[in-house]
Amino acid sequence: MLKDLLLQFIVALLPVFAFQLWYNKEQGWKGMPFFMGVYCGTSMILCMLTASNIFGYEADLRLIPYLIGSLYGGWPAFALLTSIYLGLRIPMLDSVWETVSFIVFIVVFATLILWSIRHFQHASTLRKKRMGLLLMSAMMLYYIITISGFISFSGKSWTLEMVLALLISTTGTLAATWLFIFMIESVMEKQLLHEEVKRISANYRNEVEKLQQFIDETSFGVIVIDHEGYITHFNGMAKTVLNLNANYNGEEGLIGSSFPLVFQQGQSDTCVKMLYQALNGKKSSLVPFVNGDKVLLLTTISLRTSEEDQNAGAALLAQDITELRHLQSEVGRMERLSLVGQMAASITHEIRNPMAVIRGFVQLIQERSPKNQAEYFRIVIEELDRANMIISDFLSLAQNRALIMEPSSLHDVINELVPLLHADANLRGQSVEVSLCEHLPLIMMNEREIKQLLLNIARNGMEAMGHKGSLNISTRCTESKVELRIADQGVGIPQEQMKHLFEPFFSTKTQGTGLGLPLCLSIAERHNGRIDVESREGEGTAFIVTFFLQEAFAC
Ligand code: ADP
Ligand code: MG
Repeated sequence: MLKDLLLQFIVALLPVFAFQLWYNKEQGWKGMPFFMGVYCGTSMILCMLTASNIFGYEADLRLIPYLIGSLYGGWPAFALLTSIYLGLRIPMLDSVWETVSFIVFIVVFATLILWSIRHFQHASTLRKKRMGLLLMSAMMLYYIITISGFISFSGKSWTLEMVLALLISTTGTLAATWLFIFMIESVMEKQLLHEEVKRISANYRNEVEKLQQFIDETSFGVIVIDHEGYITHFNGMAKTVLNLNANYNGEEGLIGSSFPLVFQQGQSDTCVKMLYQALNGKKSSLVPFVNGDKVLLLTTISLRTSEEDQNAGAALLAQDITELRHLQSEVGRMERLSLVGQMAASITHEIRNPMAVIRGFVQLIQERSPKNQAEYFRIVIEELDRANMIISDFLSLAQNRALIMEPSSLHDVINELVPLLHADANLRGQSVEVSLCEHLPLIMMNEREIKQLLLNIARNGMEAMGHKGSLNISTRCTESKVELRIADQGVGIPQEQMKHLFEPFFSTKTQGTGLGLPLCLSIAERHNGRIDVESREGEGTAFIVTFFLQEAFAC
């Protein structure tokens, strides 16, 4: 009989073994009703086929796959398994007692199982075991009561063997139920754990990749070493700014190398020293460091493990501040220049008044002097006028007071100046051509300044042309800008002079001040514009003044 029971035990647990092979996360609960229905159904049939006869009463463990299959598989599995159960049981009913007891059994327990399914599926492992055992115990109790009824009904009496057999089969059933749930749960837990490990390791890889990306893309040179001093991470910037040893420059060479070896001998002693200190847990502040023609700002970080707070290595960050230093000194220079400029402007302003007095008296003396000295007076007055003009230009350049800007038409300014330019050009034997575009938008401008700009550039053009040639003034408008082009057919500008054009006092003319173009540039910049120069030696030069339109006045 024990042999039969053992066989039943194995047959009832067959779905569990199949489950071990079948279950994986992809199918999960979705395939569960089908799996439980098919495998538990098969197991129930096998249980019936291998049922043992306990003193005339057919005993098998088919209740186990029926109960557990229904609980795990939900109502679809429950419906299938109940049908199988009914199909197997009904043909076997051969007495009224058995039929009645079976009907009561199926009505009570099927309802109970159906009610328990939802609670069971959302319960913890422990609760599942408890619910399974409780339901099974109830069924077994009912089973024992039925057998007792059956025995007394048929006029037999209980023997010790019968009691023992019933005890063993009840214990076996409960044990199998527990084992069934335990094994299914552990497979599922294992799977969950596996998924969790997969998720965590994917997250971890992601984080490491992000960190590596950050290290690669940052503008700092980064070298990370482990607690033994071997390089674990570095970026391209570190190779460039720290000027690492050529032998170790390859990617392969650097990773895993001992850090003192990768720095150039003598050159990067500071870096090595700082990394040693960081490895010993010393915090470092920012250290400026000159490496060849580069100025670096170095800092080290001592890395510790988060749990045991042990030394986990160190990192060296190097920021290339060469550009910043240049900029700083440039700003300093500009500030000094602007101070000198302001001082010069106020001095020149003061010089103007005595000069006006001198000019007045010179004119007075000229009237009273003999006619043969007139030429000297003319030269003195001319030179005084020229000095005055230089002072005016210089003062306009140095001025930084706020300008009154109004929306005005560039064409109006040009048209106002054209007669003056024609007259000037005629005297020199040159001509002026003006071609203006249609629909030029208004731009915010200070008319007086724009006139000054146009006159300066146009005069330069005329001065570059000698006794022939034509000066071409044209305008063009696009969606975002207005262009004023002043082109001459003069001597052109040699390449080496191009970069000095806008420097104050750069002039190639004997009578030039070298202030015209710097003044034009500062005017253009004040008008949200810029000046470009196109020049070919011997052919001519074009100055293109571009005004960028503010939204309100765009075409
Ligand atoms: P200035 O006219 O008093 O010399 P500018 O600042 O107006 O000073 O011009 C600086 C220099 O730029 C000129 O001396 C000249 O050499 C050069 N330059 C300016 N405009 C032209 C031009 N249209 N063609 C050739 N050279 C030019
Ligand atoms: Mg000039």
